[in-house]
Amino acid sequence: MLSRILIANRGEIALRIIRACHELGIEAVAVYSEADKGAPYLRLADEAVCIGPADCAKSYLNIPGIISAAEITDVEAIHPGYGFLAENINFAQICRDCGITFIGPPVEAMRLLGNKVQARKLAREARVRVVPGSDGIIEQVSESLELANKIGYPVIIKAAAGGGGRGMRVAHNDISLRSAFNSAHAEAEAAFGDGSVYLEKYIVEPRHVEVQVIADGAGNALHFYERDCSIQRRHQKMIEESPCPVLDKRTREGLCDAALRIIKKAHYVNAATVEFLLDEKKEYYFIEVNTRIQVEHPVTEMITGHDLIKWQLKIAGGQTIKFSQRNIRQTGVAIECRINAEDPERNFAPCPGTISKYIPPGGPGVRVDTHVHQGWTVSGSYDSMIAKLIVHQKTRTEAIATMRRALREFVIEPIKTTIPVCLDILSHNLFVKNKIDTGFVERNF
Ligand code: ADP
Repeated sequence: MLSRILIANRGEIALRIIRACHELGIEAVAVYSEADKGAPYLRLADEAVCIGPADCAKSYLNIPGIISAAEITDVEAIHPGYGFLAENINFAQICRDCGITFIGPPVEAMRLLGNKVQARKLAREARVRVVPGSDGIIEQVSESLELANKIGYPVIIKAAAGGGGRGMRVAHNDISLRSAFNSAHAEAEAAFGDGSVYLEKYIVEPRHVEVQVIADGAGNALHFYERDCSIQRRHQKMIEESPCPVLDKRTREGLCDAALRIIKKAHYVNAATVEFLLDEKKEYYFIEVNTRIQVEHPVTEMITGHDLIKWQLKIAGGQTIKFSQRNIRQTGVAIECRINAEDPERNFAPCPGTISKYIPPGGPGVRVDTHVHQGWTVSGSYDSMIAKLIVHQKTRTEAIATMRRALREFVIEPIKTTIPVCLDILSHNLFVKNKIDTGFVERNF
């Protein structure tokens, strides 16, 4: 078992990892930028080290700074959280070279799955259906036009190195495909330093369904069922739930088994999420693997009763999974709302500022994962997500009712947040009736 680790992240996920460490008797070293100096959650860490100024490139993305902090504080391992360096192969390799355990997959598995084109290839080899599209990277516009005319419009151009909904463009005809190709390529080059793009058939009105997997170093891999993340804005998740309310037993088993085949084929170790799109005929198509813990992991924790961060720590410390798939059950329904400091009236522009009034919700079935509190200043330098509100109840109807009352209780002032939008969505007739897909928010709000 690990005894002392460093958390290369900030905010709610850093706090979430500190808590899991302490419950396992592991010491947690936090790092912080000058913008996060004095943050109360840092006091919960066993030690905290400043790694640079507010600018992420000079702090949370500063590999030499983080490795130095790890060496000075004498930790055995680094947990990267999500975002920042979590999917950075170079960082994982440097950790390995320095004799520090990276709490995540081996670099070889990251290489196989981190690039979406490569992951599609691996999924096909694992006999998992992928969204129809290009076999590899598309170099020329002409190539994309030829393929689009073969598989039929609409199509989507996607960045091979993509993430966070960036480097993606939908095209409905030859003219829009030309510009989609060029703009996806340029956006990918700017965002990821890799402009490679590929093409997929654009699935109309799908659901986004993903499978949580944990694998150990001895070749055991188990799934923790699925999450439905169809409530999205600009291809970014806003609300997630588990179980996916439209899956029947057979489809669920097929989907979870497909996810495990991919994970095993990649000789994956630690936590991963295998993402699929589900079309209106309930056919599922692989889209990508996220090789890290995800923001929405709490909904899975609520319905399975397993602490996924603890599993990450145990597996990184060399433990193996000693129970079988039969022991993992889905109980009840969990929903998560991401609370972002954004102004819905200004097209969801980030809304930094000091929180002068903060009253979190509580009561049965409510969990709040956040690092903010009264007096906290939301920095404009980082992601706008400031809290996650999670509920767990016996049925979807009850979970919706609990989420609505919890959202109504939640006070964060005077900054603008997505609480009112989440409440509108949770109150929408089509959401309640479970008639949603990834285009729901854009069509209705
Ligand atoms: P990212 O890594 O940037 O999050 P994903 O490949 O996971 O990108 O896709 C994010 C979202 O974009 C999906 O949940 C879905 O809403 C939409 N999307 C991606 N590919 C397709 C597709 N082929 N057809 C329809 N929607 C898609």
